[in-house]
Amino acid sequence: MTASVLVIPVTERGTTMTHHIVVLGAGYAGLTAARRAAKLLRGSDVRVTLVNRSERFVERVRLHQVAARQVPPGQPLSRALAGSGVDLVVGEVAEIDAEARAVTLIDRPGRITYDSLVYALGSTADLDAVPGLREHGFAVADVEGATRLRERLDELPAGAGVVVVGAGLTGVEVAAELAEARPDLSVELVTRSELGDGLSPGARRHLSRTFARLGVRVREHQRVTAVERDGVVTAEGLRLGCTALVWAGGFRVPPLAARSALRTDELGRLVVDARLRSVSHPEVYGVGDSASGPTVTGGETRMSCQAALPMGRHAAVDLARTLRGRAGKPARIRDLGLDVALGRRNAVVQLFRGGGRPVGAVLTGPPAAWIKHRVVRVAAWLAGA
Ligand SMILES: Cc1cc2nc3c(=O)[nH]c(=O)nc-3n(C[C@H](O)[C@H](O)[C@H](O)COP(=O)(O)OP(=O)(O)OC[C@H]3O[C@@H](n4cnc5c(N)ncnc54)[C@H](O)[C@@H]3O)c2cc1C
Repeated sequence: MTASVLVIPVTERGTTMTHHIVVLGAGYAGLTAARRAAKLLRGSDVRVTLVNRSERFVERVRLHQVAARQVPPGQPLSRALAGSGVDLVVGEVAEIDAEARAVTLIDRPGRITYDSLVYALGSTADLDAVPGLREHGFAVADVEGATRLRERLDELPAGAGVVVVGAGLTGVEVAAELAEARPDLSVELVTRSELGDGLSPGARRHLSRTFARLGVRVREHQRVTAVERDGVVTAEGLRLGCTALVWAGGFRVPPLAARSALRTDELGRLVVDARLRSVSHPEVYGVGDSASGPTVTGGETRMSCQAALPMGRHAAVDLARTLRGRAGKPARIRDLGLDVALGRRNAVVQLFRGGGRPVGAVLTGPPAAWIKHRVVRVAAWLAGA
């Protein structure tokens, strides 16, 4: 395990008057929460510690580009945190003791105690979703997976087959990116539902046309049940041969909250109230993919950068308000829509009405790609990277 960038003293609860805020995870949600809390509480007797598995901030929304060798895999957190007053500890969280208000790290003695905790550990690919996937599959849900896929793609000769499983946002972006960056490969996209599920007819048409132009074969209504060394098998009886299999069949969250006394949902996400505080332990805030919070339209927050950023910001603001003796306020998280990249010069922007219903008109092509590019840049900037 890498050494911490800044070594913080591990204190036992109650030995200091300083209020210690510990943020777990330095993705979009956690980095936003840590920097904002430190800024809002500057000058007060509060210490903010950010714990992350690596010393890099990873723009997960660009991991398909990492796999296609278009962008480097992250940037130093030390740069994002310079002058912020946030202490960074690089280490893997092993356990949360919600009763003792303490966190233990792998390969590190002692515990980090907290007065307030922000749980922001994000999500990753579910490599146990089907037999054989862990041994033979690739994923782009984290930087290690995207880097492994990049190395595999470098080895593939012209004409090699790549199967992408899952036609949600991630699968669509991966398939389009790979087909555009490596036109010599034969890319297939397999989905158990339909391409563009949940999008308007205009957006779906644009996806179909784009994949036809890129030469991506789309196979709908096929549920992959097993992954083998040289192909995949579906419940409908299809066997597709391939030399690389990319799994984009949904994310899963770390099991840490579920293993502690914190209340979680069936997916293991921390269940939070309108202020994003754990319903079982209100000194713990849950933000980003690893928490399930309410949206303004009465639904649940979607695992997305779009939700992670305002959730992180809200946790910091709520903490600052309450530590200054003011009343907390409910978060107002909205699901505004999707901006799906289809390679470097094409995208589709789909806005939602309340309740997640897609509006009929969509923006496509280079103007949508330009918006997507700006959105990605602004997201990293909002997080402070
Ligand atoms: C290819 C791809 C494209 C995407 N495109 C979009 C998009 O267009 N729009 C959109 O809204 N969303 C998109 N997403 C989803 C988006 O990236 C996530 O929803 C978002 O990153 C969630 O942010 P987060 O801060 O909750 O978690 P993360 O960004 O996953 O950050 C979690 C952090 O916690 C750390 N961590 C985890 N476990 C531990 C541990 N045990 N100990 C220490 N540290 C740990 C991780 O290393 C990471 O730094 C995309 C995702 C992918 C993979």
